Amino acid sequence: MDAQVEGKVNELNSTEEVEKIYSNFIQDIINEDNETNRFGRKVHTRFPPEPNGYLHIGHAKSICLNFGIADQNGGLCNLRFDDTNPSKEDTEYVESIQADVKWLGFDWDDRLFYASDYFDKLYDYAIRLIEMGKAYVCDLSAEEIRKYRGTLTEPGKESPYRNRSVEENLDLFLRMKNGEFEDGSRVLRAKIDMASPNLNMRDPVIYRIMKANHHRSGDKWCIYPMYDFAHPISDSLEGITHSICTLEFEDHRPLYNWFIDTLDMECKTRQIEFARLNLNYTVMSKRKLLKLVQEGYVRGWDDPRMPTISGLRRRGYTPSSIRDFCSRIGVAKSNSTVDISLLEHCIREELNQKATRAMAVLRPLKLVIDNYPEGVVEEFEVQNNPEDPDSGTRKVPFSRVLYIEKDDFCENPPKKYFRLAPGQEVRLKGAYIVKCVDVVKDDKTGEIIEVHCTYDTESRGGNAPDGRKVKGTIHWVSEAHAIDAEVRLYDHLFNVPNPGADENIDFIDQLNPNSLEILHSCKLEPGLANAKPGDMFQFLRLGYFCVDSEDSKADSLVFNRTVSLKDTWAKIADKG
Ligand code: ATP
Ligand code: MG
Repeated sequence: MDAQVEGKVNELNSTEEVEKIYSNFIQDIINEDNETNRFGRKVHTRFPPEPNGYLHIGHAKSICLNFGIADQNGGLCNLRFDDTNPSKEDTEYVESIQADVKWLGFDWDDRLFYASDYFDKLYDYAIRLIEMGKAYVCDLSAEEIRKYRGTLTEPGKESPYRNRSVEENLDLFLRMKNGEFEDGSRVLRAKIDMASPNLNMRDPVIYRIMKANHHRSGDKWCIYPMYDFAHPISDSLEGITHSICTLEFEDHRPLYNWFIDTLDMECKTRQIEFARLNLNYTVMSKRKLLKLVQEGYVRGWDDPRMPTISGLRRRGYTPSSIRDFCSRIGVAKSNSTVDISLLEHCIREELNQKATRAMAVLRPLKLVIDNYPEGVVEEFEVQNNPEDPDSGTRKVPFSRVLYIEKDDFCENPPKKYFRLAPGQEVRLKGAYIVKCVDVVKDDKTGEIIEVHCTYDTESRGGNAPDGRKVKGTIHWVSEAHAIDAEVRLYDHLFNVPNPGADENIDFIDQLNPNSLEILHSCKLEPGLANAKPGDMFQFLRLGYFCVDSEDSKADSLVFNRTVSLKDTWAKIADKG
């Protein structure tokens, strides 16, 4: 191992992460290129989002891979906006993408590029192809082009415009550029091979007419290059050595290489494909995510139920938990779906180490301790985080009237119900053992509105003086000291594992109607009054929660549940 690589390896915090990087097939390709000196041992990658939506967890995989691979090899990674389709692109997306990449912990330094920066050059390359007799202006409609293309089993048919002279093509292309023709009336096509077994090689369109305002070039252009043409040239112009993209571009690779070779580009960028990330119970297509936002099925791109980076951030995910997830899923050559519980496992593991513990009651039920003196307040010292010896302790006030969770009391308990029930004892976490002696019901509804208990005066701290067993321990908050908060609980956005998989069902119909539950007047221990947006806590027995970054105010706190405590991934992994 050379010293530089060794340094990087030492920086990594888990051996697992190291193994992943060294076992991934992209690193193998890079090693091979280094051996043959294909790129002079240089590694330069790029992350090329189209600014037509917010980034999602699938993009995070690509970001971690592109920046990670560059970093591991002492190379560089560019951020390039692939902004060749002005009809869908917007500066709002450009800004959010930069913020998200930075938040994830990656830096492109001064290497921020736009495909639109190359519009002049791309135009010149198109002219060069025409001059070489390798591109022509075609007047067929989109529909006709599709028909002429043929199928996987049948060769395509040549366009009647295929053999226009270079002069005519140059003239027509110039007039396309000058805005003389209507949208869709003509295109520029590469002249390759209508009989190629690869459909992408059957004279692909490389320029189209689109009279649209571009977020950067304004009205300068009314013709725009297609992705397949713009991408290899942009890569090569930036000196990208390895152009890492998702598997659906595998069949485009011969075309990618055709542009690089035919135009004799200086940097002979190598395209490498990897499997895109699919997660169950969510969708990853930007078109679908946009629909959810535009039609109001969610509250915005950063809705905590969204698989977007901004949604995950608002939900309480940390950059390191997302990077950890991306490292654990690895990089493969075949598509598969990752269980969303693995993502949840990653944040749960991190927050278990980091999050301060607190007591919060989400669905309050009053508990009155009949034999506890009125007006007395005791303070119990509890640990901030038993996983972190340096986290210290805090004091939690205790008094005669408390709140407990509604479902921690049951009037007619089933067997093995170890929480509170008539005549039964339970431990109030860190405080005393109490025994239920009575309940008070609402006259009209019959709903239980108060539970009355007596406490064992000798059980301070929660230990029975005679050593008797008290199985259940529940959390509580003192009524007089409690602060109110709104708490938002989340479930999967969709109620089927693979939404949209069945073409006959609209994915909108598969939305989970219970994906958001809002609880008002939850009761929190008083120390949480100073919680700031983004702060994260473990509410005992309930999960990990963060202060909402948008809606929470000093006098009306709003918490999001990031994840519950139940680790379904650990169970799956155990069985496996
Ligand atoms: P969509 O198909 O939803 O429009 P896209 O792939 O076109 O998404 P881009 O903005 O072009 O979105 O993606 C930027 C980069 O992120 C590309 O290199 C793409 O391959 C990669 N990427 C997008 N989605 C995923 C995913 N689910 N897993 C891994 N990489 C992804
Ligand atoms: Mg794309």
